[in-house]
Amino acid sequence: MAAARLRGTYGRSAIGLGTSGLVVAVAVIVPTFAEATPPKALRAPEPAASTAQPQAPVPMSKITAAAPRPRNPDEGSGCGRSFHPPVDGKLALRGAYRTGRAKSYKFCPTWSGFGHVRGRFHGGIDVSATTGTPVRAGTDGTLTYGNNPGGFGKYARLSFQHPKRGRDGTCHGSTELEIIYAHLLDESVKIGAPPRHVRAGEVVGRVGCTGNARGMCSPSPESHVHVTVQRPDARGRIDPLAFFGWQVHRPDEGDKASEWASCFER
Ligand SMILES: [Zn+2]
Repeated sequence: MAAARLRGTYGRSAIGLGTSGLVVAVAVIVPTFAEATPPKALRAPEPAASTAQPQAPVPMSKITAAAPRPRNPDEGSGCGRSFHPPVDGKLALRGAYRTGRAKSYKFCPTWSGFGHVRGRFHGGIDVSATTGTPVRAGTDGTLTYGNNPGGFGKYARLSFQHPKRGRDGTCHGSTELEIIYAHLLDESVKIGAPPRHVRAGEVVGRVGCTGNARGMCSPSPESHVHVTVQRPDARGRIDPLAFFGWQVHRPDEGDKASEWASCFER
């Protein structure tokens, strides 16, 4: 499908820094398609001031080929930190994709995951949200804005220091990482504004449809914010789900097993 194929180009072009093929694939979400109960919804463990309702969690192993493994010493989930979710309330992966037919959509949240999706690399996750939804900083850090019309569109970049995680599992020192929030509304992004410090949970922009967010924007069923975690040089992109430690929840609306099944066949 054209939308996801194009979206896969973010990995190299989004902020103008080539990866030279050195992307470190960490805890890549390549779903085990045989899994019987694929997830739709995600929720941060304890989002501050969230209206999320408690739901029975589904283990990460339900959507990953293998349990996330700390190959990358920057992975955050093991270093005792928590991150504010990008939008309030229950988080869900963008579920619907436009098909070749007019007004025809396919329900396939796995295509919004991190990693190799239908033969292309998707360097982040697509969190479902309606246009205009406030996007919030995951942690304290330095906020800048940018524009990449062919990829992220208008985006916010949150730079922050994060503990390094050694192979022995201990956390020490710090390294700089950044979270990219992409496809934001034009008017919510202040290109050229000086860097400023923001606190976790502070609004950094609003969900929009800029850049290569083709396929699903309001008034279509779902807009989304693309979230990437990476080093400042855009190398070593990290699976946001593993990094943030977000838990995955079952869809709360009907059983879309048949649609998931056809989705997995791709
Ligand atoms: Zn995306």
